This record gives sequence, C-alpha cells and structure tokens, in this order.
Amino acid sequence: MSTFQAPKGTYDLIPPDSAAYLAVREAISAPLKRAGYGYIETPGFEAVELFSRGVGESTDIVSKEMYTLTTKGGTTLALRPEGTASVLRAALQNNLHKLGNLPVKLWYSGSYYRYERPQAGRYRHFSQVGAEAIGTEDPVLDAELIILAVDAYKALGLKNFRVLLNSLGDKECRPVYRAALQQFLAGLDLDEDTVRRAEINPLRVLDDKRDAVQKQLTGAPMLRDYLCEACKEYHEQVRELLTAAGVAYEDDPKLVRGLDYYTRTTFEFVHGGLGSQSAVGGGGRYDGLSEMIGGPALPSVGWALGVDRTVLALKAEGVELELPATTDVFAVPLGEEARRTLFGTVTELRRAGIATDFAFGGKGLKNAMKSANRADARFAIVAGERDLAEGVVQLKDMRSGEQTAVALDALVATLQEKLA
Ligand code: AMP
Repeated sequence: MSTFQAPKGTYDLIPPDSAAYLAVREAISAPLKRAGYGYIETPGFEAVELFSRGVGESTDIVSKEMYTLTTKGGTTLALRPEGTASVLRAALQNNLHKLGNLPVKLWYSGSYYRYERPQAGRYRHFSQVGAEAIGTEDPVLDAELIILAVDAYKALGLKNFRVLLNSLGDKECRPVYRAALQQFLAGLDLDEDTVRRAEINPLRVLDDKRDAVQKQLTGAPMLRDYLCEACKEYHEQVRELLTAAGVAYEDDPKLVRGLDYYTRTTFEFVHGGLGSQSAVGGGGRYDGLSEMIGGPALPSVGWALGVDRTVLALKAEGVELELPATTDVFAVPLGEEARRTLFGTVTELRRAGIATDFAFGGKGLKNAMKSANRADARFAIVAGERDLAEGVVQLKDMRSGEQTAVALDALVATLQEKLA
C-alpha cells in the first residue's frame, strides 16, 4: 500500500469490475446515438456563477455541495456538479442553436463532483451519461428522452426500475401555486432551515424526506390542481405518448427534484434494490434555463443517468452483462529466440483483431500457463525453438485441453475460424 488513499467519498474503478462501467456507458449511449444525439464534451470546471444562476442558489447542490476553487489568476471556478448547465452554456457559446436545426440534440458522459455525505450509492465523484434536446417545445421530445432511458435500462437487462412522472407547470401557473403552497407552509411548525427553504423554493419542502415534515404536508395544495390548460394539455400528451410506446410510469405529484431550473415535465428513474439512494437517473424540461444564463428563449429537455448506481442496480438484480473477452489467445514462448518470433505473431494476431496477450518476463511453461488461465484465455499458443524451426506453434484449447500443431502462416485464419 502507498502512503496515499483515494479521497473520502471516491473510489477507483479497477479491472475486472471497470468493464461493467464501460458497458453501462455504452448501453446508455447506444440508443441516443441511434436517435440523432451528437456527442459533446465540456470542461470539468466552469464559472461558479453558471451553476449558482443556472442550478439555483437555494439548491443543496450549489449551496452545500459545490467544489469551488480560486485560480492563481483570481478566477473562481467550480468542479461541475451536474451536466445540463455546462452543455447549454457550450451550445450557446458555439451557436449550435443558430445552425437552423432545432432541437440541438446532444449526449455526454463524464465525471461530476458533489461534496456530499458519502454512503452506499452516494459519492463525491461519480459518473453520469446525459442527454439534452435544446430549443424545441414538443411533448414528443419529452417522451423520446424518457423512452430512450427506459430502452437503455432494458437493454442492460434491468427489470426492477420504475419511472416517476410529474409536471411542474410553467411561468404562468407555477407562481400561483407557489404562493398557495407558501401560504400553507407558513401555517406549519417547521424548523428554521425549512422555513427559509419555504421562502426561497417552497416546492422543495415537498421533497423533504423527514417523517415529521411529511406528516404535516397532508392536505398541502397539489401542483396538479393548479396547472394551466396549456401545461395540462402538454402533460397529457407526454403521458399518452409514453403509454403508446409501452412505457409504464407512475404519476408522482410530489416529484420536484433538487434543481431549480425544471419546468413542466419532470421525471425520475428509481430502482428497488438500492436502499435510500434509489434514484438511478432523472431529468425534465427546463424552458427557462437558457434565459437564466443570458441566452435567448430556448425551451429544452434532458436527463442524466448515474453510471455508478446503474452498476449497483445490475448487481442488486444479479444481472451478469455479456462482456467481450479480454483475452482470446495467450502466447507462451519457450526460450529466448521463441520469445522474439512469437511476439511478432502476437502483434500480427492483434492487428487481425484477435485479443491476444503474452507471457512477459521469461516465465517458465508452468507459470505461463497459470497466467493464461488467470487471463481466462480461450486458447494458448506455445512455441519452442524446435516448433518455430518447423514453422509451427502448438495451439492449445484451454477448455478441452486438446493440443494441435498449427502452421505459423495459417495461425491467423485458424484462430479467426475457431473464435468466430
Ligand atoms: P441529479 O442531477 O441529482 O438528478 O442526478 C442524476 C443521477 O446522477 C442520479 O439519479 C444518480 O444516479 C446520479 N447521482 C447524483 N448524485 C450522485 C452521487 N453523489 N453519487 C452517485 N451518483 C449520483
């Protein structure tokens, strides 16, 4: 062990488990690529104000969990706590919305940072794959994104997940509801922090997980009773489109989510096997965010799915992903000259697309075969000087133990056939 440890709330992704993370990223992004989303990558840090204005000063993410730093030049930056604000900033800065083809559909994958209290499924550094569709108000787009997430979870083999759906209203109806809720909350017995939250963002009090608060919320005005006709109609269309696509969802009138920028459609994907950190992904419509960060009106919708929690969900359900073999063939040279010749063969096999590894370090036969077993290779090729002088290698099937001599110049074709 070294003197150093990974910082609190973080962990290293190491083989063989790391393969599942790559497979999850791939499975989430595959449906997006098929649906016309283009890949975007933004910096790991941004101006602090992008998040305080975009995500919201009153949110936990900004007020408590942001990693901020001051550069030597005196600029204050924040490690990105989420992806949407950065992606929208990048789209605006690069004028993607002016290229004429709205919505601008983007997907991304990367690391995010929140100074949270670490626990199972909650880390200070975590990974998300996200998607944003910028510049169009159309319930079909909201439905498309929810369907793509559900298809990704299904492609991974997950079953025990649910889709929670709600509408948060728009700039017409939400203020009316907000006032009604605030009036209701003012009559409750709440602690100082919650009273403050009720003043800044009363909707988030509905999200309070504490029993004592939840009990008092019985009889609170519900947003769905305040939705304007346009929002009701919009939400109804999203629901119908999901039903038509065979996506089961649950209406969750209390779903508000922890970020300020959401309007209308909001949704969360929760998994039954994760204990208290049950959200595997979430998102919604954010029609006002562009203007909040100084852009034009660009109604948009998006989601982010957590890679770490998706891997935990797979484990909880006992799903074994079908991962590509890391080593098809393991090459074992016997002797110095064989070592050079066989390494040439290894390079040739790799260039032919066969996953091949080599017994490095001049191991003896017994040790080298142990390595081949540990690498879970399908075949070993063993060659001593005499074999090579005859232009052959010994090809051993690691499952059956069967061994045959194969001409060196026929090796690539033979292995390709056997591995097909
Ligand atoms: P949010 O932006 O909070 O809605 O997060 C979207 C998804 O990212 C969540 O559903 C989680 O799967 C994942 N996520 C958020 N915060 C964390 C965290 N601290 N640790 C691990 N995963 C997280």
